[in-house]
Amino acid sequence: MVKKKQRTKYKLKKNDLVKIITGKEKGKSGRILDIDSRKGRIMIEGLNMVKKAIRPKGQNQKGGITEIEASVDISNVMIVCKKCGPTRIGYSFESDKKIRVCRKCGELL
Ligand SMILES: [Zn+2]
Repeated sequence: MVKKKQRTKYKLKKNDLVKIITGKEKGKSGRILDIDSRKGRIMIEGLNMVKKAIRPKGQNQKGGITEIEASVDISNVMIVCKKCGPTRIGYSFESDKKIRVCRKCGELL
């Protein structure tokens, strides 16, 4: 059997407000900074920070430790609806244009 490689299309977009639903950052929310659709992982502003050592570069820059966002699995987050909170994305059509809506209350996402 040949395993077909499927390209997953994600409904989430950059700048979406999402809430982490599992793991150590559970319950926190933030905006999506970046999406890696090949790996199915996203970076969320200010969340899942990890310490990273910086090597000194050149003469004027000192080495040290900084904190950066580490990616989280896309399945561990839910989009946040401004009306009713974490929800799932549904689709609707508005004058032939496909729009993303909240599946619970129909609010535009
Ligand atoms: Zn809603």
